[in-house]
Amino acid sequence: MKRVHVIGAGLAGLSAALAAVRGGAAVTLHEAAPQAGGRCRSYFDDKLGCVIDNGGHVIMGANRAAFAFLDEVGGRAHMVEVAPAAFPFLDLATGERWTVRPNAGRIPWWVFARARRVPGARIADFLHALGILRAGPEDTVAQFLAPGSELYRRLWDPLATSVMNADPREAAAQPMAEMVRQTFFAGEAACRPWVARAGLSRAFVDPALDLLRTRGAVLRTEHRLQRIAFAAGRADALHFADGSIPIDADDAVVLAVPHAVAPSLVPDLVAPDDARAIVNAHFRLGRPAKLPDGLPLLGLVGGTAQWLIVHDDIVSVTVSAGDALAERPNDQVIALLWRDVARAMSLEPDRPAPSRLIKEKRATFAQTPVQVARRPPPRTAWRNLALAGDWTATGLPATIEGAIRSGAAAIESLRKSMPQ
Ligand SMILES: Cc1cc2nc3c(=O)[nH]c(=O)nc-3n(C[C@H](O)[C@H](O)[C@H](O)COP(=O)(O)OP(=O)(O)OC[C@H]3O[C@@H](n4cnc5c(N)ncnc54)[C@H](O)[C@@H]3O)c2cc1C
Repeated sequence: MKRVHVIGAGLAGLSAALAAVRGGAAVTLHEAAPQAGGRCRSYFDDKLGCVIDNGGHVIMGANRAAFAFLDEVGGRAHMVEVAPAAFPFLDLATGERWTVRPNAGRIPWWVFARARRVPGARIADFLHALGILRAGPEDTVAQFLAPGSELYRRLWDPLATSVMNADPREAAAQPMAEMVRQTFFAGEAACRPWVARAGLSRAFVDPALDLLRTRGAVLRTEHRLQRIAFAAGRADALHFADGSIPIDADDAVVLAVPHAVAPSLVPDLVAPDDARAIVNAHFRLGRPAKLPDGLPLLGLVGGTAQWLIVHDDIVSVTVSAGDALAERPNDQVIALLWRDVARAMSLEPDRPAPSRLIKEKRATFAQTPVQVARRPPPRTAWRNLALAGDWTATGLPATIEGAIRSGAAAIESLRKSMPQ
């Protein structure tokens, strides 16, 4: 491949671009938005007067592709690791606090240790959950997790809802099982949560763009692909508002746009066609935001807010599978979320901090069994066109790890389908 045109500069596109330059190709990234990063980015917020992320993101120690990406671009220093692995929780209904602490080694004996597991959880419920490792393509997460149990309410529900961005009663079990295999059955280090120290773009996006530029790649922002022309079994030209770019015989295209966009560009593409929302609120406290234990994150049950992530004087609140919440007026959502933040952090409930609410209505595709079955592989019917994105068939939930893997997989697929 001489030149690769990467369409979409989210993490999948950036990962594809890095893999292509590693292989010696010239790369042009075409991005519709004014900036790169897609659903994983930071921006300067005028109202809050500081840089915030589009939404709080957590990656796990197990995310090998994400760390390989961070190490290649030099972004790891901009992440904070929770080591040893710990997931602190607060039950807003009862005021109880506990911290889940996975142990070292591959056998998760922490489920038997009172000080490491969820209060009120029964060993039998943990054992029941092992069934998810044998889940079939039509199974949902909740089938294996004993809904109604304390373990479900206090661990599986918050964990699975955030990992799958879907209610566990509708979420596909197989991608969740893969995540469980790679974390809980891989030891403590694989379970460590990592968050961005001062914004996602600093860790993932800016250093990747810097590296790509030094390797000759070109990023064209506000350059939305409108149409792909096909001829003789290959993508033949890319059409943009400002003109067309012919695709030479040795050139390839990676389409790394969201699931909702790809079918409008690729004829007869079967792709997920339903999405779930994530609601995020950022509160700027005006003084350092500290959580109990000094950890950067806290899981909440029994309220509206699900996860808090803090850095500097910002508290970011995440609500996954937040479709119903996203339909409510902004002031109501902020009031609900501030009530939970104030409770969790002992702040004044009647004096909400300045805030920014971000409703990502298409945060991920709806990861139900039906939708998961629609995830396409990277390879397409056109030999020089491959697909990437968290919605492609990575076998993983729609996450940073999946997006980054998909970019490399797209380049790998092109290497196989195109004559060298
Ligand atoms: C609020 C929120 C919280 C999340 N939390 C987590 C988390 O905690 N952990 C985790 O691992 N993952 C999380 N995710 C998921 C993660 O952000 C995504 O999986 C990942 O960023 C997807 O990357 P992508 O490159 O596949 O897609 P995108 O980031 O959507 O990139 C696609 C790009 O294509 C561009 N584009 C669209 N149409 C065109 C066109 N016609 N021409 C050119 N460009 C086009 C878009 O502008 C975009 O930049 C979260 C997502 C959201 C929204």
